[in-house]
Amino acid sequence: MGDNILVVGSSRDDWATIQAALAVYNVILAKDGRQALEYVANLSNLVLIIIDATSETLDALLLLHTLEQDPRCAVMLISQTGEGESVLHTPLTRACVSDQVQQVLQKDRCKQLNEQSSLFNAIFWQAPIGITISHGIGPLDGTINEVFSVNPRFEEITGRTRAELKTIGWASITHPDDLEADLVQFKRLQAGEIQSYSMEKRYIKSDGSWVWVSMVVASLQIQSNHSYSHICLVQDISQRKQAEQQLAESERSKSVLLSHLPGLAYRTKYDPDWTVLYVSDGCKNLTGYEPASLVGNRDISFNELIVPSYRQAIREEWERVLPLHQTFTYEYEIIKADGQRVWVWETGQGYYTQRGEVQELEGIILDISDRKKVEQELTFYNEHDMLTSLYNRRHLENLLHEDIQLHACLKRAVVAVNLSALHTASMTYGFQYTQEIIKKVATALLVLSNEQCLLCKTHEYRFSFYVKNYREKQDLIDFCKRISSLLETFLIIEGINWGIGIVEIGRDATKDVEQLLRNLLVASEQALQQLHGQSSYCFFDTEMEERLYREEEITAELSRIAAGEGSGSLFLNYQPIFELASNKIVGFEALARLQISSLGLISPLQFIPITEKTKLIIPLGDSIILQALRFLNTLHGKGYHNIVMSINISAIQLLKHDFTANLLRMIKAMQVDPRCICLEITESVFASNYQDINRVLGQLQSMGIQIAIDDFGTGYSSLARERELNINCLKIDKFFIDKLMTLTDEEAITGDIISLAHKLGHCVVAEGIEHERQLQYLRKFGCDKIQGYLISRPVDEKVALSLLEAQAHIPSKD
Ligand code: C2E
Ligand code: MG
Ligand code: MG
Repeated sequence: MGDNILVVGSSRDDWATIQAALAVYNVILAKDGRQALEYVANLSNLVLIIIDATSETLDALLLLHTLEQDPRCAVMLISQTGEGESVLHTPLTRACVSDQVQQVLQKDRCKQLNEQSSLFNAIFWQAPIGITISHGIGPLDGTINEVFSVNPRFEEITGRTRAELKTIGWASITHPDDLEADLVQFKRLQAGEIQSYSMEKRYIKSDGSWVWVSMVVASLQIQSNHSYSHICLVQDISQRKQAEQQLAESERSKSVLLSHLPGLAYRTKYDPDWTVLYVSDGCKNLTGYEPASLVGNRDISFNELIVPSYRQAIREEWERVLPLHQTFTYEYEIIKADGQRVWVWETGQGYYTQRGEVQELEGIILDISDRKKVEQELTFYNEHDMLTSLYNRRHLENLLHEDIQLHACLKRAVVAVNLSALHTASMTYGFQYTQEIIKKVATALLVLSNEQCLLCKTHEYRFSFYVKNYREKQDLIDFCKRISSLLETFLIIEGINWGIGIVEIGRDATKDVEQLLRNLLVASEQALQQLHGQSSYCFFDTEMEERLYREEEITAELSRIAAGEGSGSLFLNYQPIFELASNKIVGFEALARLQISSLGLISPLQFIPITEKTKLIIPLGDSIILQALRFLNTLHGKGYHNIVMSINISAIQLLKHDFTANLLRMIKAMQVDPRCICLEITESVFASNYQDINRVLGQLQSMGIQIAIDDFGTGYSSLARERELNINCLKIDKFFIDKLMTLTDEEAITGDIISLAHKLGHCVVAEGIEHERQLQYLRKFGCDKIQGYLISRPVDEKVALSLLEAQAHIPSKD
């Protein structure tokens, strides 16, 4: 295919001359400028345009202007005037045309070559891609690169200099893992089997790191060079590779995560079936179905997997969270392919269209059966008694709370079986013994338990039935009798009593569950106190309620008094202690009195136990001691130096670590002689903490203080132990004194107690002497002192003082 020359609008003669002069070219004639432009657009290898400017000057000028805008090839003019090689003067001659055209074309080719060379240089040196051009045999035979060009970008990408590259060749800097593939292709290129190849490969940099490149290699046909040539273009793609690797890594971790997920990941439609679009492999393990069975609801829809009772709630939760763009979380059960139910936890979220409509749902579903099992166990432990597996007090409380709103027509009651006698039995026979009894009781009572009459174990030694829907009170009484008949079969042999308390939850019943259960306890305790044989039952009634109310009022007032507030008062009366030998008052017992405006005068038998229960005895006890010592001080001041003041002390006071030090401080403050103080403690004190109590008593005795055992004979201590006790005196309880009124002297043991106490070195005081007969007996059997209404009731300070004054005027017998 030769070069084309276009002649535009020449005359017939000129045309013939031109054709003859340029016979080696394809000379084409265009009749005018328009046609010439068409040729220019379509002709390849157009090397010259000769425009005849002699005829249509305007047409020629337009064409020239166009070519100037887009120079495609050399241009010559046929003209009568003008100068230069590009102008062919008419008349044309073959020789002139041939010479001038050769000259113009020669110049144009040089110009073109220059332009191409500078374009190549610009590309080669400045291009943002690495380029090498090699003329050699190959990369491995060591004789490569007779001529070798490397652009700066290539040096930059590979981190190698041109000289280095020329010496070691591209194969040695290609990553070993990529080399083989590269060489295979290169050999095919050399063999002419392919014109080019491309691949992604790594070049090893001089520091050992590598760079990823995208490479295109093409063979070059260079006429002047006979050895094999090729061009190699490389682009640094490290960043892209890194991103790809990161993506691959994230895909890998995602798949690792999914394969280790104790459940499944899903994408579903937001439709009634929750049509599955994607579900991870974990589906098989969790549901028993292959993922493919669920996708597109092929065998079963996800909705069908959900246990029906949860379906509506799950849908409603999605409906709630989706408009708010919130996360969905829910725990529910699914049915596996084998019919087994599994607890799952789902969390998911919606995907929305640009218009905010829910497109799909995506999330994960995990198997939480293990956690649920633990949770259920915990709930069980929380609401059950471990020994008997019966519901515990918490469960009963919850039920009672839930039922507070129940219709008043539904009759409800709580029936408690109080086995507190087991507490003492536990101390005697051990823990194991009581546990066995409790288990037996539970088994026996369980016979009566049903939906309308639920058995709970509400305390270590108490069981309670929550009875619903009974008809009348008699039903409850019959029920108590059935309880007793079940228990007596084995508890009577063990010698264990039980009391049954009943609280009916009527229209006016308290809404306070805590209070209700306290009332129940009170009723059962009351039942224990009024035992008929082995057992008894007792309804919580208004009288008990009033007593409770009264107790609460007393407690409140005592708290106020202890805080130095309140309108009531705590004061002392003094009962004389009369010595039989001298027939004289030798001491007084300080007895506490409580006066409350709303309730009047309250017996210490009632309020002292309350102060002990509430620990108010600690501050109030101090106040009592102070009042007693102050009066003793007054008596001593009036000359009654030998009078002894007896003060009742509770175990709680005595066990307080600073009791002795505190008492000593008060004795010093009141300036009284410790030998004129007697502390009365009841026998029961020793039951709890014998060793400690006895040690404290020893300390007190060493200070000169006397110790008396009050109400002797009613409590725990035995005479055998009396020898070890750090005490000075026994106060025989009124019980033994009362007996003197009915028994003969021979029958009564009071005298034996007196002589035994004397043998142990203790002095004896008899309490509650009301009758002369009792006095005679006590004199006869050598009792030391007496105390009782026969001598005097407890009196206030003024009367007590007058009693002493009166006796001072009576001449002594001896
Ligand atoms: P207690 O220490 O045995 O006091 C004797 C109780 O018997 C007193 O009852 C007294 O009034 C009463 N009594 C005395 N002689 C006779 C009598 O001939 N016939 C009858 N029927 N009773 C007689 P009180 O004052 O009601 O005290 C009852 C109990 O309260 C005291 O028994 C004592 O245990 C306790 N108590 C009183 N005051 C205090 C106190 O300040 N602290 C402590 N911890 N307990 C106190
Ligand atoms: Mg006393
Ligand atoms: Mg007493």
